[in-house]
Amino acid sequence: MTLRHRLTNEIAAREADLVALTQDLIRIPTLNPPGENYRDICDYLDRRLTKAGFATEMIRAHGAPGDSDRHPRWNIVARREGTRPGACVHFNSHIDVVEVGHGWTVEPFGGELREGRIYGRGSCDMKGGLAASIVAVEAFIAICPDYAGAIEISGTADEESGGFGGVAYLAEKGYFSPDRVSHVIIPEPLGKDRICLGHRGVWWAEIETHGEIAHGSMPFLGDCAIRHMGAVIEAMETRLFPALAARRTEMPVVPEGARQSTLNINSIHGGEPEQDADYTGLPSPCVPDRCRMVIDRRFLIEEDIGAVENEVRSVLEAVRDGRPGFDYTIRELHRVLPTMTERDAPVVGAVAQAVAEVFGHEADYVVSPGTYDQKHIDRIGRLKNCIAYGPGILDLAHKPDEYVGVGDMLQSAQVMALTLDALLGG
Ligand SMILES: [Zn+2]
Repeated sequence: MTLRHRLTNEIAAREADLVALTQDLIRIPTLNPPGENYRDICDYLDRRLTKAGFATEMIRAHGAPGDSDRHPRWNIVARREGTRPGACVHFNSHIDVVEVGHGWTVEPFGGELREGRIYGRGSCDMKGGLAASIVAVEAFIAICPDYAGAIEISGTADEESGGFGGVAYLAEKGYFSPDRVSHVIIPEPLGKDRICLGHRGVWWAEIETHGEIAHGSMPFLGDCAIRHMGAVIEAMETRLFPALAARRTEMPVVPEGARQSTLNINSIHGGEPEQDADYTGLPSPCVPDRCRMVIDRRFLIEEDIGAVENEVRSVLEAVRDGRPGFDYTIRELHRVLPTMTERDAPVVGAVAQAVAEVFGHEADYVVSPGTYDQKHIDRIGRLKNCIAYGPGILDLAHKPDEYVGVGDMLQSAQVMALTLDALLGG
């Protein structure tokens, strides 16, 4: 029997274990924000990986955004040395999940298995990927116990809120430095036969329009900040959105709709705050003296972040030129530069070869519309040999009735195990 067949059989024999592991992970509700139960899930992973022969470290990101004694930012890094010197392959998964939201027909933290799919918040993004990587590693160790180098598995906090209490913190501490780690695979749900090379860039900003408060019955005595913001939106509709839609990229971004520059208006707040649902009184009449908008601009590797920023400012300046009394401020909230690993990077080649072996066709190369923790591994860790590869359907992430297919997890685990064989010469 070939090694590939032995690995395939070994993984197939672990299907029930893979399902149970995924369900266990989903049943620990690691909601972020606020960042709940991180310690619990790290303890769970600690027990599992210690049993598999890993040395584990629990690392709290003291002082990171969001870290508090009530919601400590715990991470786990596990490492298992091989029998001789060699490369280190690291599987990094985030342990946090986003809010549940509305529209669920199954229990969001139930981990229900139905017709070959495991349902629950975080099943697809990305506890299914974490479980698949663990089973892949365990199966590889069983079949190839005398591998070279080292294998690492990490479970990290806060990816959904920027990764500062997770991968960024660990990268600052040297956990993703090239002298420690050679290859990084992030099992985000990009699809079982696709290799994700990187992501578009991000620029978030808050725009505030200024007005003057007055009695709502005499709006002419004040200046309505919300109407000023309306003019900003109008200018975006006519000038900005069409320009962004026309700007295409050579990055293989999926889905196709994201193969261009995009802008989302994340939120608008103006005037009196909304009252709690159980408040029975009426609002009071005031002309709003300020209105704030948060924008989420996603940009391309061909674009310069300075130009991205100036483009938005020029829209605001054009509104100022044409609108009496218009005044605004703009404040950057967050920026991430685009990143894209070279197709001839060693980890890309190894995963591509494994995908071809398992599926009988070439891997697709894709780029993620949104960022993920690769940004920190690239910029802080200075490690370029990093991709996202994992089971799950990207479009299901953050949606109600999110699920991951058991068959997809098994096939992804095969790809991961073959990749370990290629890189660690089992
Ligand atoms: Zn994710």
